[in-house]
Amino acid sequence: MSRTVYVNGEYLPEEDAKISIFDRGFLMADGVYEVTSVLDGKLIAFDGHAARLTRSLSELDMAAPVDMDELLAIHRELVKRNDIVDGLIYLQVTRGSPGDRDFVFPDPATTPSTLVLFTQSKPGLADNPAAKIGMSVISIEDLRWGRRDIKTVQLLYPSMGKMMAQKAGAGDAWLVEDGVVTEGTSNNAYIVKNGKIITRHLSNDILHGITRAAVLRYAKEAQMEVEERAFSIAEAQDADEAFVTSASAFVMPVVEIDGVKLGDGKPGKVALRLREIYLDESRKAAI
Ligand code: PMP
Repeated sequence: MSRTVYVNGEYLPEEDAKISIFDRGFLMADGVYEVTSVLDGKLIAFDGHAARLTRSLSELDMAAPVDMDELLAIHRELVKRNDIVDGLIYLQVTRGSPGDRDFVFPDPATTPSTLVLFTQSKPGLADNPAAKIGMSVISIEDLRWGRRDIKTVQLLYPSMGKMMAQKAGAGDAWLVEDGVVTEGTSNNAYIVKNGKIITRHLSNDILHGITRAAVLRYAKEAQMEVEERAFSIAEAQDADEAFVTSASAFVMPVVEIDGVKLGDGKPGKVALRLREIYLDESRKAAI
């Protein structure tokens, strides 16, 4: 069945949604995005995603196409119109279409930004059987640009990373720079050693995950020890357990890194407990 999508103020059947070939999102990856999950018809961590979007836009001197109240209303309307129970809402803002190709940013007064949102229905999103088995990751060199804190649509390298992982029979790739892990291709990376949760500190080198912020808050509230610092693949392979977090995968155990099984090769206790806490608390706070 055709989805109803949102494009620049209009709700349209997906077949009728059109963007100019001169849109800078298309020509230059000059755009930012957010993915917000929906559980039981409600939005998870909307405020966090809206705040990060505002920051991404401001770091790129891009105008916000609508205010955050309106953005919430659009998310809710799409959930309603597409009968989404569990799933994702994808949002993208680009610097719009100046009607030609030029490296110089167009004047926002004459070139409004483009705003697109669409839904992805994922029945049983929170009951992903993969969480019970855990996933394997491979390590690859982090060849992305230097502003990974801005959530841009430049996803070619992460996409290539997923393909490298697929080819190697793994679930994902962890990106390594200067001998230490930055993050996963589309998630933040963690290890657990002697009960302590270790994840890379925030900087321009990684995306400031909304799920990361929530999970670390819940971990601290549950008296778990958290250390924010970089770690190597060798340290990760020697850890008791590992996991990743993202808005769509929540907390996902990692059981194997570059062919080395962690512990008994099963999802770790800390990862499973954090997944449970995260899902419980997120459902309670959903709007
Ligand atoms: N890092 C990268 C590179 C990502 O693409 C994502 C997911 N978009 C994350 C981390 C996780 O962020 P969040 O928890 O906000 O989904």
